[in-house]
Amino acid sequence: MLARVLPLAPPAAPDWQADYRAARLTAADLLDRVGLTAADLPYGLAPAPDFALKAPPHFLSLVRRGDPHDPLLLQVLARADELVDDPALLTDPLDEASFTPARGILRKYGSRALLLAAGSCAIHCRYCFRRHTDYGAMVLPVGGHADAVALLAADPAVEEVILSGGDPLTLADDRLAALLGALAAIPHLAMIRIHSRTLTAVPARVTPALVALLAGLGKPVVIVAHTNHANEIDGVVAAALARLRGAGVTLLNQSVLLRGVNDSVAAIRAHALRLFASGVLPYYMHLLDPVAGAGHFDVGLTEALGLEQQLRDTLPGYLVPRFVREVPGRLAKTPIWQLAG
Ligand SMILES: *Cc1c(COP(=O)(O)O)cnc(C)c1O
Ligand code: SF4
Repeated sequence: MLARVLPLAPPAAPDWQADYRAARLTAADLLDRVGLTAADLPYGLAPAPDFALKAPPHFLSLVRRGDPHDPLLLQVLARADELVDDPALLTDPLDEASFTPARGILRKYGSRALLLAAGSCAIHCRYCFRRHTDYGAMVLPVGGHADAVALLAADPAVEEVILSGGDPLTLADDRLAALLGALAAIPHLAMIRIHSRTLTAVPARVTPALVALLAGLGKPVVIVAHTNHANEIDGVVAAALARLRGAGVTLLNQSVLLRGVNDSVAAIRAHALRLFASGVLPYYMHLLDPVAGAGHFDVGLTEALGLEQQLRDTLPGYLVPRFVREVPGRLAKTPIWQLAG
């Protein structure tokens, strides 16, 4: 009897754009979603941070309720530590402003060019090295990727183009299709890479249309996901990853080594094994860039070297991420063992 009262419409397709819109919230709302109030916290909050809070519903659903030390919560909640004023911390730690041959392109490494394809993200990671970036002036203009694509097409040294941002998967399908199509038509590109945090933030973004777009480009596609902890990869995220694998996409992961989030052998091991179970190989473990407002996430070089060694002792080599640091002026990321004195 009851069943007859219910409408029989099929479940609505997940609306990823609604998830993006719902991601902006106040600290009080964010805490409420995870069963906490400010009074429960053993740390202070940063009032009105200039890098706004953004945490989409799926990501928040993976936070353990009532745990102020949850490793996902700490990535999105602005703690008072952000206000610490340390002169060693910079607003453009990688000196990116000096490596821009044309608006929207970052070219530091000879064979790879990075496109700042989008100026926004699905989630705001408090440790982000681009948290002070004025995307307005750097990002590819809407509908205006032609100049950047022409520059890449004229330079056979560029073998791979990396879409980054911001998060390129925040772009609507038509913009993404136009940009990817133009890049795929460049004969000397061997592959196209996308760096994105969306797979864990808004897994519903991996729609059949997106999967079809990537499968139909006629160039190998590599997606480097950005996740930092095993808890970011639940069944929903794993299913999104499986859809991409089904389209022939090569899946890698990059993380940032973060105090309180993934600064233990146990956490990084569990993450590597969870990634592997979802068809993703660990690629990079980045040491934190010295960006203002994120110093409380820093894990020092000596400790990082110790973690990397212990991981090598206990995981297959292909599941140990390369621990690297970005050193301005170098032609590639620097393995941290090269920095040990
Ligand atoms: C990290 C990075 C790349 C990609 O480097 P890989 O080592 O190939 O992953 C390319 N361009 C810039 C500017 C980068 O920061
Ligand atoms: S998704 Fe990437 S670019 Fe965006 S805030 Fe997080 S780390 Fe920064």
